Amino acid sequence: MSYSVSPIGFVRSCFKEKFAIPRQPQLAPAARGVLELLPPFDSGEAVQGLDQVSHVWLLFVFHQALEDKPRLKVRPPRLGGNQSVGVFSTRATHRPNGIGQSVVKLDRVEPGKLWLSGIDLLDGTPVLDIKPYVPYADSIAGAYNRIADSAPTLIEVTWQDAALRQAHSHGQRLGEPLVELIEQCLAQDPRPAYQRPSPERHYGADFWDIDVRWHYPQPGLIRVLEVVAAT
Ligand code: SAM
Repeated sequence: MSYSVSPIGFVRSCFKEKFAIPRQPQLAPAARGVLELLPPFDSGEAVQGLDQVSHVWLLFVFHQALEDKPRLKVRPPRLGGNQSVGVFSTRATHRPNGIGQSVVKLDRVEPGKLWLSGIDLLDGTPVLDIKPYVPYADSIAGAYNRIADSAPTLIEVTWQDAALRQAHSHGQRLGEPLVELIEQCLAQDPRPAYQRPSPERHYGADFWDIDVRWHYPQPGLIRVLEVVAAT
């Protein structure tokens, strides 16, 4: 038996590549995007009432992680990437049907457009459905998850003076909280856990239309080196 689903819209996101996207929503409140709805959902009727709601669930497709052969076990980055567990005990992107779900802040609604923040979605992500967050049902007192029991530990992010100036000026140009976005995302330590970072090794990721470069002068510390226009 098979069912077919089709997107109701696509997300225009600050994240232009998978690397350095937080591993869950809400970890980077400065991560913003716009969900652009497709006809017939762009007329305004479908979003009527959403101005009464602070957060929404998005059901979406991990369109850049789709695979033909379903995996039964995965190695979540959360467990250091070297321990495997059943796919259904994780939020891994490689999963049957490639469906993701994120609860995100709804900042503004207008016909055909939802302004979102706290997102963990790649630019161009196809969205299958939107549902309002229902606090009395979706927030469960006493719930636990012993594999992921709390938010990841943050690491310190420092700046080279010129890089901070560049980030401020690109942020102003974009009208986006770029310094906060970079700090919140890099503090999650995007580097794969198995990689021992040497200070000589430079890392980079694209946010909006800019490229951020950083290194680890010592373990557990990030220094932002450069914030330049992406090529
Ligand atoms: N909150 C969602 C969930 O629980 O289903 C996503 C969790 S998943 C661990 C988060 C990661 O998905 C991000 O760090 C990013 O690298 C990746 N990601 C986001 N959007 C994607 C997309 N459209 N295709 C593939 N990977 C994506």
